[in-house]
Amino acid sequence: MTSKEWQELAELLIPQKTLSLAELEKRYPPRRLPHQAWVTRIAPSPTGFPHFGFLYTAYINFRLARQTGGKFLLRIEDTDKKREVAGGRELIIATLKKMAIPVDEGPQKGGRYGPYIQSQRREIYLAVIKELVRRGFAYPCFCTPQELATMRRQQQAQGVQPGYYGSWARCRHLSLAEIKKKLARGQKFVIRFRAPEQAPALKITDLIKGPLTFPANQIDYILYKSDEQGLTLPVYHLAATVDDHFQRITHVVRGEEWLSSLPLHWQIYQALGWQPPQFGHLAQVMKLDQGKKRKLSKRLDPEADARYYWRQGIPPVAIKAYILRLSDASFDDWRRAHPCQPLTQFPLQIKHLAHSRGPLFDMTKLQQLARDEIHRLLLANPRRVYRAILSWAQEFAPDFAAIFSRQPAYSLKVIQIEKESRKDISQWQDVPNIFAYFYDELYQPPNWKEDLPERVDLTMAKKILLAFQQKFSGRETAASWEKKMRQLAADLGYAARAADWRKTPDQYRGHVGDVATVIRLALTGRRQAPDLYQVAKILGWPRVRERVENSILRIV
Ligand code: GLU
Repeated sequence: MTSKEWQELAELLIPQKTLSLAELEKRYPPRRLPHQAWVTRIAPSPTGFPHFGFLYTAYINFRLARQTGGKFLLRIEDTDKKREVAGGRELIIATLKKMAIPVDEGPQKGGRYGPYIQSQRREIYLAVIKELVRRGFAYPCFCTPQELATMRRQQQAQGVQPGYYGSWARCRHLSLAEIKKKLARGQKFVIRFRAPEQAPALKITDLIKGPLTFPANQIDYILYKSDEQGLTLPVYHLAATVDDHFQRITHVVRGEEWLSSLPLHWQIYQALGWQPPQFGHLAQVMKLDQGKKRKLSKRLDPEADARYYWRQGIPPVAIKAYILRLSDASFDDWRRAHPCQPLTQFPLQIKHLAHSRGPLFDMTKLQQLARDEIHRLLLANPRRVYRAILSWAQEFAPDFAAIFSRQPAYSLKVIQIEKESRKDISQWQDVPNIFAYFYDELYQPPNWKEDLPERVDLTMAKKILLAFQQKFSGRETAASWEKKMRQLAADLGYAARAADWRKTPDQYRGHVGDVATVIRLALTGRRQAPDLYQVAKILGWPRVRERVENSILRIV
């Protein structure tokens, strides 16, 4: 076709008046940002609940933008209306909020380069597709699904590359007159890319994978679909390319599953005369399954679904620390050297993301990091921990939320018990159990017949509790508490120091630890618990007395 014919075809296919590319360039001018600033984006499709891979890609993109003084955008890629689920967009926004990954521009935040929802950017895509037709880089295809299926069968039988290309691409060779005839008959069509003939191989340097070479794309992929209302929405390849350009994205960092689309995307940039952004393709997060590596899968692995983390109450700071650790093994050393710094101070390096085989997801490591991060947070800002537990509980354990928030000052003391040394919380879900005995509704008295230490019998347990009742007043200091406890042990024939008992066990019934265990059982219902003096102080003397009294009554 001649250039004039292509122009005519463009008007025929897209009769609406559209903006010119020059007008769009003006509407979305290059950003004024520092020289090294990265503009990145996360561009999810609202097709279901976000996956761990989404959290991973979003956080990395956010960090790369923030670190360089750039911008991080959220773009909703909802051009495939068939795959969209109701509420999908809101889920994405809520997930980023929950993760505390703020976007600089997005559907809610707005911004100079919006709209940030693809289905609201139709006029831009129409302008671009019209221009592609004008330039002879796109053409209408009238092949029916049946015809395409026949083509695929023939290709299979002949053992040739499948797809719509070369001589298989029947509509690529239609004349304008033939196209007009089909249009006049009202035949349904899509618009395909007209892949350049004999293009050279694509050589690029991926930010993560390094130098790569791809054979040039030869397939005439669909760029636009139409329905009864005409051209509705473009497919991902066109929409994403156009948006990355007009939203002035400088670095596209995305999952490696998109690597195979790169040759097509590159050709679209070239057809439009645009400078492509830089690309980095992240290896997919893997999991070890019976000794074999496979992709983390939403179907097989509960932890692949972002909801898992909310339900368990694994705080975002722990997930972020883990993402940094998965991305860059130098994170552990940095954390050791900078235990108190916020994660945003960690210099994430794109070149460290270069594990070609995919980072291995390891729940044990995530839990260990979570313990460390919660411990840090507890030291730095216990009120924040209180609020985080409460908001988790309000959603997932409302009964506990009511108990926990009845006396906020009390609960704030509870969660801080031995905070310097304890690292036993890896998820908020564990909190109700860890601290249960601080709340009367959750306290479970011990089973005196079974829980006593071996060197204490029931009669002795009762004696210990009675002696405690007599000797302790509730006004003890840490030092006098300890002294009294040792005295109490000695009075009843137990060694005041465990070391003495170890030396000459025959001289004693047992040692002070056995005696303390009886008191601990009474106060907490457990053999293991933090320092008794501190537990008693937080519980308050009336509650301590009551539990000891009830215990005495219960031991028969
Ligand atoms: N919409 C694509 C997705 O759902 C985005 C791919 C890209 O980042 O280019 O992941």
